[in-house]
This record gives sequence, C-alpha cells and structure tokens, in this order.
Amino acid sequence: MPFQLPELPYAYDALEPYCDEATVRLHHDVHHRAYVDGLNKTEEKLAENRDKGDFTIIKHWEHELAFHGSGHLLHTLFWQNMRPGGGGNAQGSLAECITKDFGSFDNFKKQFTAAALAVEGSGWAILVWSPNFAELEILQVENHQNHTQWGVTPLLTVDVWEHAYYLKYQNKRSNWVEAWWNLVNWEDVLNRFEVSTKLLDQ
Ligand code: MN
Repeated sequence: MPFQLPELPYAYDALEPYCDEATVRLHHDVHHRAYVDGLNKTEEKLAENRDKGDFTIIKHWEHELAFHGSGHLLHTLFWQNMRPGGGGNAQGSLAECITKDFGSFDNFKKQFTAAALAVEGSGWAILVWSPNFAELEILQVENHQNHTQWGVTPLLTVDVWEHAYYLKYQNKRSNWVEAWWNLVNWEDVLNRFEVSTKLLDQ
C-alpha cells in the first residue's frame, strides 16, 4: 500500500485567525502531499534497485527516503498537534513531567519558543520523550533529513519553515510561534506521552 496524505482532522479554515486558510491549504495539499508522493516514489525506486542489484545511486535514494519520510511524519504530527480552540496548559501526567524536567510550564514554553525562533532555515522545534534518558527534551530540527536523535518519540512540534507562516506573517516568525501556542492540542500531546512512557515500563 502506498502512503496516503492523511486528511486534516478539522476544516481548512478551522485554525483561523492564528493559522490562515490559504496557508493551511497550500501547506497540507501541496507541501505535505509532495512528501507523501516523494516517499512513495523513493520506496518504488529502492525496490527497483534491490530487484536489479544496482545500488550505484543509493546515497541519493537514502537521502530522499530520510527527507520525504521525515517530512511526512513531522507534518502528520504537526497537524494532529493542533486543534481549533486549543492552547492553554499541558494536562495530567504530561504537565507533571514538564514541571519535573523544565522547572515549570512557563519555563518549558520559553525554552520551546526560543528554540523555535533560533532554528536556522528550514526546520522544526520539537518536544520529545527520550526513553533512554527517561525525560522530556526539546530539540531543534534543522534540515529534517539530518540531525536526527535516534530513539526519541516526537510528541509536539511546530513547523518553522517559511511556507508554514510566510503568507500571513511574512518574516515575523515570532508572531507565528506566538499564535501557534493558541492551537496546541494538549490532549493529543498527552495521549502520545502516555503511550510513550508506557513503552518504558514494558
Ligand atoms: Mn511544512
């Protein structure tokens, strides 16, 4: 089964005024779709390579696999991490763990915002659960095909590549990140956290 572009869990205009309809349409229907199409093409080409036993341009296809695969995974997470009427504070066991690992919710929010604003070029800020370290961490993703920390589970991410905000916010990434906080679906983040930390106990 080829990978499919997942439908948005809300209407295109549901994230207004923080994230405008035109941006969501382009971002989901064009940018995210390009990753899904690229991932399917890459898997097809890799199967061809294996059939022929010809790996002369394997570096190219491995790069494409990481680029489109990460793009598809991170965008899927990004859409699910938002909801109309979102925002506020983290809940339940996630809220407790945020306080334990960052001192307070406010400190977490400040670090996450600073990390998002300081990402160079195309990239993401991301809250992850590290089962190896048994703690939450905030990571910057620059060029999402590189700089991967293996073994962490992404819980919450914000897209800070220009296509995510330029139509509405132009070069003011800080306005986008500030607005994005009003969209965070903390229930989704909590569900991901609970599933990830359960894995640790097994
Ligand atoms: Mn994007």
